[in-house]
Amino acid sequence: MNTPDATIDEVTASVYTFPTDHPEADGTLSWSETTMIIVEVSGGGQVGLGYTYAAAACQPLIDDMLADAVRGRPVLDVTGAWEAMVRTTRNLGRPGLVSCAISAVDTALWDLKGKLLQTPVCRLLGVVHDAVPVYGSGGFTTYDDATARAQLLQWVQDWELPRVKIKIGESWGRNVTRDLARIAFARKVIGPDVELFVDANGGYTRKQAIRVAHAMVEHDVTWFEEPVSSDDLVGLREVRDQVRPDVTAGEYGFDLVYFARMIAAQAVDCLQVDVTRCGGITEWVRAAALAAAAGLRVSGHCAPNLHAHVAAAVPNLAHLEYFHDHVRIEDKILDGALDPTGGSLRPDLSRPGLGLDLKRSDAEPYRVQ
Ligand SMILES: [Mg+2]
Repeated sequence: MNTPDATIDEVTASVYTFPTDHPEADGTLSWSETTMIIVEVSGGGQVGLGYTYAAAACQPLIDDMLADAVRGRPVLDVTGAWEAMVRTTRNLGRPGLVSCAISAVDTALWDLKGKLLQTPVCRLLGVVHDAVPVYGSGGFTTYDDATARAQLLQWVQDWELPRVKIKIGESWGRNVTRDLARIAFARKVIGPDVELFVDANGGYTRKQAIRVAHAMVEHDVTWFEEPVSSDDLVGLREVRDQVRPDVTAGEYGFDLVYFARMIAAQAVDCLQVDVTRCGGITEWVRAAALAAAAGLRVSGHCAPNLHAHVAAAVPNLAHLEYFHDHVRIEDKILDGALDPTGGSLRPDLSRPGLGLDLKRSDAEPYRVQ
């Protein structure tokens, strides 16, 4: 079969669970493991790889409903397959697990298209940036000083990252004293020249967030993520109007309408978009276009190796979140995981698709279904 006529054959999902290296928590959640759903899509003699970080419940949805929706469709027409997945899941509700499952299949389809055409995904989309800036992300509220220091030094000294982010808002905003002490500690460890970001994961109330922002002014924090719940668009706007750092949110955006509402509410200075949740690469570029029309930049949320190609193809890119948990996993099981040294990821233009291959023997011990 000629390349343009190749059709999608099989779609299979597998589930892996990886324990964290330390107990982890942010302002509003704690966890000890991360679940990854890996999708493989075959067609035209190639296999595409995609994934999402979600829950094992994505697997039957992908293996049954989404596979039925895309099987037999042309490999090159990813948008058509994406639309078929969205339509077939209408009655299930798009936000949440359904969108995570669609995202995993969509990213695998882009990878498959790239492999079929022997072209990197960033070039299918059109490269704008040769290098994609990243920021170090972790800094969990559960870390003691020694653990926090070691992580910060790995980012700024070993990897030369020029920007880092820690979690604050501990215990739903009930330990502001420790939040501020940890911000001061992080600034002391990284020195004056590295950008310092904080993420409260929606742990504060509106006025509390404004007071925290004023109290951290001396530490030159330039990014205040989810100071209040990202569902509180009026609250985000209120905080944004009264604090110096950029106010950011968007990681729970599961469809384009979510981002449109957030932008219309003037709730953020930078829109965060997660390719493993929003509907994959197909929807990520649309969200970035919405942001561009409003004069905003976008930042990729987590899963850095899955974001690298689409981020490289978006003019209004700010950076990607080089998230500790996902970096550990992706470095361990994906051949082709990118090196952040110097503060950016450079998609490997010599590798087709997303440039990632599953190291099966390394992944197998973590497979749960
Ligand atoms: Mg966040």
